[in-house]
Amino acid sequence: MMNPPATDAPPRTNFVREIVLEDLKTNKYGGRVHTRFPPEPNGYLHIGHAKSICLNFGLAAEFGGKTNLRFDDTNPEKEEQEYVDSIMDSIRWLGFDWEHRLFYASDYFGQLYEWAQKLVRAGKAYVCDLSADEVRKYRGTLTEPGTESPYRDRSAEESLDLLERMRVGEFPDGSRTLRAKIDMASPNLNMRDPVMYRILHAEHHRTGNKWSIYPMYDFAHGQSDSIEGITHSICTLEFEDHRPLYDWYIEQLGIHHPQQIEFDRLNITYTLMSKRKLLQLVEQHHVRGWDDPRMPTISGMRRRGYTPEAIRNFCGGLGVSKTTGIIELRLLEHHVREDLNKRAPRMMAVLRPLRVVIDNYPEGRTEEVEAVNNPEDASAGTRQVPFSRVLYIEQDDFREDPPKQYYRLSPGREVRLRYGYFLTCTSVVKDDNDDVVEIHCTYDPATRGGNAPDGRKVKSTIHWVSAPHAVDAEIRLYDTLFLREDPNQTDEGEDFTANINPVSLEILTECKLEPALAHVSPMERFQFERLGYFCADPETTPHKPVFNRTVALKDTWAKIEKRGVGQIGNLRPIVNRLPGLPSQ
Ligand code: ATP
Ligand code: MG
Repeated sequence: MMNPPATDAPPRTNFVREIVLEDLKTNKYGGRVHTRFPPEPNGYLHIGHAKSICLNFGLAAEFGGKTNLRFDDTNPEKEEQEYVDSIMDSIRWLGFDWEHRLFYASDYFGQLYEWAQKLVRAGKAYVCDLSADEVRKYRGTLTEPGTESPYRDRSAEESLDLLERMRVGEFPDGSRTLRAKIDMASPNLNMRDPVMYRILHAEHHRTGNKWSIYPMYDFAHGQSDSIEGITHSICTLEFEDHRPLYDWYIEQLGIHHPQQIEFDRLNITYTLMSKRKLLQLVEQHHVRGWDDPRMPTISGMRRRGYTPEAIRNFCGGLGVSKTTGIIELRLLEHHVREDLNKRAPRMMAVLRPLRVVIDNYPEGRTEEVEAVNNPEDASAGTRQVPFSRVLYIEQDDFREDPPKQYYRLSPGREVRLRYGYFLTCTSVVKDDNDDVVEIHCTYDPATRGGNAPDGRKVKSTIHWVSAPHAVDAEIRLYDTLFLREDPNQTDEGEDFTANINPVSLEILTECKLEPALAHVSPMERFQFERLGYFCADPETTPHKPVFNRTVALKDTWAKIEKRGVGQIGNLRPIVNRLPGLPSQ
């Protein structure tokens, strides 16, 4: 399979791409472009990872290169096979293919150990008996140099012997470390004799109990890149200060030297991107799981109905830079709407039904009206929708006492039924609480198809479902999981869970769908006219469709654009056109 470009649009250039272009020009890596995506399997992938995936796979695809998938599994305590499986599933779903190039940092444990021994022999590393606390104390601060460990000048023989005994499990956790001998006075704290190996008697998801020591990220990452022949090792900005160490290990070992390049992490309003915090949401049951449609995970977005194309277009349009910003959630939703607008068949569904009886429509009669499947795609054709004497409309589309500028149905008011007839409300039926439970109307048979021969106009068009033909469904509506743009902004003594939106999920169980939706399969996507885009949930059964609202129709884009929010590139606003629907 060929990897798709990261975005459907022509590549927007950025400084990482410019570095690659320059390296191709100077033939730095013999014309090769070889990137990797290196997730730690300690959680599900989120939309931030998608930015990195699109960048890595996208660059390689553009220049005829390759991208590896490498699990950075050097932390046995937090890693699990479930996460490995979900990560592969999410990357494939996004549309990218690592072909046969699936690797694990743990595959290199043997080679890394040999390299560690080599550095010890060369006097570049030593076994240190300081505790973690002491190591921290000796490290110094940004303004003060560190102090050399009393074990720094231990002989290579002694260090080699201790290292081997650490490896086979002779010593307890935390009792010793292997450290690089660099410079305790370096202004870069990462260069002050960083730890290379720690003792950890933990079972690893792949190597089991074979190892009692595990390499630190910095000692594993660059060498893993090197082993795989990576040319451009693209990571996020927090690793900028680690680059000198990345380079140091590779230079000391004299092995192939990839170029590490750091870019800005993606942040989105109302969204958390730390796997640790996402795990907390799952474990504390604030959400229904990693793939809850409110989660910023790829699997959550997928379940919600987002498309891979929408996510790729979003990522492809983002800047790649050296300064971290925050992107509006609405930009992502904009891409979701834009993509679904092209591909989602239109249907009619009523979320909160109100019964309508058309008194002058013959009892027992059913007719079919023709409805357009997708105004954006003529090849999608039309379908027949049953119409009868009793219908459901949205409670919202009727007001007994209409406020000014409310043009939908109310007593005495005439509106258009989408694809049907003009309808006039004549009376209402109320229950003991004075709530309207049913309305009575008349229709004008001369207006079939939606126009009056006498040319009279109505101000609004509403959707409907024929009651005897309706399919019952459950529909889940979502709001942002957090109430604050920055979910990490909390008052003293609180953590981010204090910002959780208590009404981020609303479950409607009495919804009515047009009969064409009786046999939907999980993950089928539709636009329910006037309501938004919806995707059938995996919990859908043949007897009961369950839908998630992917995103509402209303496009706030125009407003955003007026406000002139930064970082939105040259995107144009979209309009969800519903031909024949006057704006309301
Ligand atoms: P988290 O803090 O969410 O756990 P991480 O950086 O620890 O993220 P990794 O599994 O190590 O997660 O990340 C794999 C790759 O994805 C890395 O190259 C990392 O830089 C990149 N990445 C992670 N989060 C983001 C983000 N928000 N934006 C862009 N790239 C990201
Ligand atoms: Mg990490």
